[in-house]
Amino acid sequence: MAEFKLIDRFRQRNKVQRKDVLQGIGDDCARVEMPQGYELAITSDTLCEGVHFPQGTSAHAIGYKALAVNLSDLAAMGAQPSWVTLALTLPQHNARWLDDFAEGFFTLAERHNVQLIGGDTTQGPLSITVQAHGFIPAGKAITRSGAKPGDYICVTGTLGQAGLELLKLNGGIQRKTPYNRLNYPEPRIEAGIALREIASAAIDVSDGLIADLGHILDAGQVGARVVLEELPLSVTMMQDQDPAKMLELALTAGDDYEICFTMAEEHIDAANDLQKELNLPIKHIGNIEEAPGLRIHRKEGVPLEISSGGYEHFSEKKNARGK
Ligand code: ADP
Ligand code: MG
Repeated sequence: MAEFKLIDRFRQRNKVQRKDVLQGIGDDCARVEMPQGYELAITSDTLCEGVHFPQGTSAHAIGYKALAVNLSDLAAMGAQPSWVTLALTLPQHNARWLDDFAEGFFTLAERHNVQLIGGDTTQGPLSITVQAHGFIPAGKAITRSGAKPGDYICVTGTLGQAGLELLKLNGGIQRKTPYNRLNYPEPRIEAGIALREIASAAIDVSDGLIADLGHILDAGQVGARVVLEELPLSVTMMQDQDPAKMLELALTAGDDYEICFTMAEEHIDAANDLQKELNLPIKHIGNIEEAPGLRIHRKEGVPLEISSGGYEHFSEKKNARGK
């Protein structure tokens, strides 16, 4: 009974009604229609309490972030989001919690015209799985594997802010505002779509720059040189008393959900136009090289020892690249 109430609640809150959804929530399956000439991109991500968000995170933030991390994967591929499903495992039925969760989830869904078309609901330790679908014009996907020696390495927005917030949270320092980068990352959908014409490879920064740029390097069988001082920091980070720590966070902390991409030099002007058009900084942080491995340098050319990489689940030892 409780499950049906929940589904009704979500159905009512769900304002996005897309023409390409032939049948949404309510039957054994949803049915949808693909536009001609497009590929379907599919991704799925799970958030578990205590692993992907600290206990005590608001239901609103959990609902937002569960969708945001999936939309971020679509963005990194150059996909336009369309439909999502939601598998919810809840410890108990709590109407207030569900309404807050739905508010966070659907606010973001509406922003990107994404329709919730189905899901599943079970009882157990809190866990949320979203599967997201999106369209890419046939042959236009941005994969991880296209980086070529000489390509520029760029990132959108700033890096490390979510990691800084997590540090503060773990240190018991109260957040000033409920809206923060850790819980409310912005999926870079518009940037991803525009990058179809510019980028040779792309990935969203979920596990930290070293780890995620590492995936681009592995997939393209190339290496890279990154200049530490070029990493884009938020205003809060630039004002911090410990600049070295801030750069370390920018390199290793996850949860920023910015896009790291590579592009041929000829696209510099297009990238500059894009950052103005989207009002989103795009920063050149280094270049792809032929020799494998990630080399991080200070501006004066002193190479940096990398002691810790991104956060890898089920791994005691954090990954160390570049050495
Ligand atoms: P079944 O047992 O056939 O899987 P359910 O009773 O689980 O059906 O679900 C009934 C309908 O509600 C289905 O259309 C399903 O996709 C949808 N649904 C169930 N849980 C959720 C959820 N958490 N979010 C969105 N839709 C859901
Ligand atoms: Mg079911």
